[in-house]
Amino acid sequence: MRIRVPPSLKLRRTSLAFAAGMVLALAGVSAQNAPRQVSLVLTGGTVVTVDPANRVIANGAVAIDGTDIVAVDTADAIGKQFRGRETIDSSGQIVLPGLINTHTHAPMVLYRGLADDLALADWLNKYIFPAEAKTVSPEFVRAGTRLAALEMLQSGTTTFADMYYFEEEVAAATKAAGLRGVLGQTVIQFPVADAKTPADALVRAEAFIKSFKDDPLITPAVAPHAMYTLDGPTLKAARDLSRRYGVPTLIHLAETSDEIQAAQERFKSSPVAYLDSLGFLGPGVLGAHGVWVSDADIAMLKARSVGISHNPESNMKLASGTAPVPAYLKAEVAIGLGTDGAASNNDLDMFEAMRFAALLHKHASRDPRALSAHSALEMATIRGARALGMEKRIGSLEPRKRADVITVSVNGARQTPMYDAVSHLVYVIRGDDVQNTIVNGQVLMRSRKVLTLDEKAVITEARSWIEKVRAAVK
Ligand SMILES: [Zn+2]
Repeated sequence: MRIRVPPSLKLRRTSLAFAAGMVLALAGVSAQNAPRQVSLVLTGGTVVTVDPANRVIANGAVAIDGTDIVAVDTADAIGKQFRGRETIDSSGQIVLPGLINTHTHAPMVLYRGLADDLALADWLNKYIFPAEAKTVSPEFVRAGTRLAALEMLQSGTTTFADMYYFEEEVAAATKAAGLRGVLGQTVIQFPVADAKTPADALVRAEAFIKSFKDDPLITPAVAPHAMYTLDGPTLKAARDLSRRYGVPTLIHLAETSDEIQAAQERFKSSPVAYLDSLGFLGPGVLGAHGVWVSDADIAMLKARSVGISHNPESNMKLASGTAPVPAYLKAEVAIGLGTDGAASNNDLDMFEAMRFAALLHKHASRDPRALSAHSALEMATIRGARALGMEKRIGSLEPRKRADVITVSVNGARQTPMYDAVSHLVYVIRGDDVQNTIVNGQVLMRSRKVLTLDEKAVITEARSWIEKVRAAVK
């Protein structure tokens, strides 16, 4: 039997079907446009990317998923595309890449302020070497690295390059704190706490490389101390070891005029030319300081793709001289910034390193254009990454790079007003202004609360070394 459907009902059925279809279609559209869930979104700050276009995004945002940055854009655009399982409100802050300290000796924070205002030879021979001879041990290195890690993550350093003894202890403490490290086991000619001979040190270095190779945070390295503290065969052996494993080589290079004199007397050559004659220079080598170099040396460093770490505060404090940073930049040598150890700085604040670098080269050249705020920021981020051969992974806020990100407060009297975020980062901001520190996507400090280290315990442990260190230099 055929039922006659009243025209009004027909219409209703049609419109119901139409409405149902619309609902389904809309659901499909909204599924397509639903924000993608990611692990973390920082939103609302001024984002200084240090990317190739040097984008500075007012009211910007960074989306992070797992270990990686997935997008950097305006807060609006990120809000439409991503929803963070965790969100950090960065309004009133600058968001920037984590800072990269290309040269330090982390455990030496325990010698902070032990001896100041001395000539380099007195400082080393009367204080630093005796203190090291009597106090350096795995326990000392562990306590010192924890203190250094705490200071670094509180002041916005996310990656550091280190040269010290018992480097496996430095690595373990660095990993536990969640920081990224390029960590070099020291090789030096005279007997030291962790090796009686350079051959012992090379064995240690190899074991260290094997246990940390392919670690997501730790890049093991070999650290032959300097050309004047090692003979030629040991320098070559150290370099061969790092080549064999494809890991970096960290060395002090042309730091003082004494080193130039030693190279002249022994080899009738500059330290740079001498190392090149050994086949030592090449990609993967990072030379710390590079103060005393000629134009020919700079050209050689560029040709061999050697990275340089500039340490303005240490060089000024020890009166080592002024590295020709504008010449390095002009020659396009990969040059980053470092603090050096806290015994010659006396802290690990990379904002200070940026400020001192910018001021030192203006002063030294009597040209305020010699090193701009922008260049100083690049040296503490992307140029530092390049000096360490890590520019594909870190050094800028770009999709597919590791999420090493910090935020600094610009809400206080000292930072008000703000016309230019990059100017503030170099000339106004201090390490204490850092609010959040993120490494490899993991939040290590949130609103100045350190999450990976027990702040009180670290400081108490460090203080327990004071008497032992004092006794060592009496
Ligand atoms: Zn050093």
